[in-house]
Amino acid sequence: VHAVRPLIAGNWKMNGLKASSSEFEAILAGAAQLSSGIDLLVCPPATLISAFADTLAAANADGKLKVAIGAQDCHVNASGAHTGDISAEMLADAGARAIIVGHSERRADHAETDAIVRSKAQAVWRAGLVAIVCVGETQGERNAGHTLDVVAGQLAGSLPDGATAANLVVAYEPVWAIGTGMTPTAEDVEEVHGFIRQTLTQRFDAEGAQMRLLYGGSVKPSNARELMAVPHVNGALVGGASLKASDFLAIAAGC
Ligand code: PEP
Repeated sequence: VHAVRPLIAGNWKMNGLKASSSEFEAILAGAAQLSSGIDLLVCPPATLISAFADTLAAANADGKLKVAIGAQDCHVNASGAHTGDISAEMLADAGARAIIVGHSERRADHAETDAIVRSKAQAVWRAGLVAIVCVGETQGERNAGHTLDVVAGQLAGSLPDGATAANLVVAYEPVWAIGTGMTPTAEDVEEVHGFIRQTLTQRFDAEGAQMRLLYGGSVKPSNARELMAVPHVNGALVGGASLKASDFLAIAAGC
């Protein structure tokens, strides 16, 4: 029995065309067989959010499926002269219920600092959605023994005041484990997640004790059960393996 309700979130990254709706429909069909104690979140590219939200609404008239649609990033402003950007309000309007912010690929490819990530998390809340804030060390930082310092700095800089268990999810994603097939040991994950829990509880009191902490980085059906059993791991943020409904559902079933 989990004290904190688990969440399995899929980050499709820049993958998916209209034809991918069949994969999403397969996720919905499988979700009906899962324990009702688990939440699923699918974060397709922004172009598919609206269509997936319609598909979900049609399949979930009775509200029994614990599945929601999320987005992968947002702009800090609600609207304005920002060509090509999408606001949290627009994503909410399209049907997103959560937005990932501060993914390491955004931090690296778009030079997103902790301060930017914090502003984005506030934008997510302004739109009434859940912010999934990603943190995690690089291989070099881990080798140098700086993992906890790096994560502490990212948490301090990226999380706005006012975080609650309802509006914030923290994803620990070691950069070196993303898309590489490499994962930390269960002991290493336990160390970092325990540290994140302690940090969140110190800053956000009882809310921090209840926030969902996801592990992300090369989660797949074969390692999900072990990783999800680690103390203070309340689910997973899944990249590559979330693109295949059968893998994504197998990961959720191992939770
Ligand atoms: C991610 O990018 O959030 C991720 C965890 O990717 P993967 O599962 O492919 O390592």
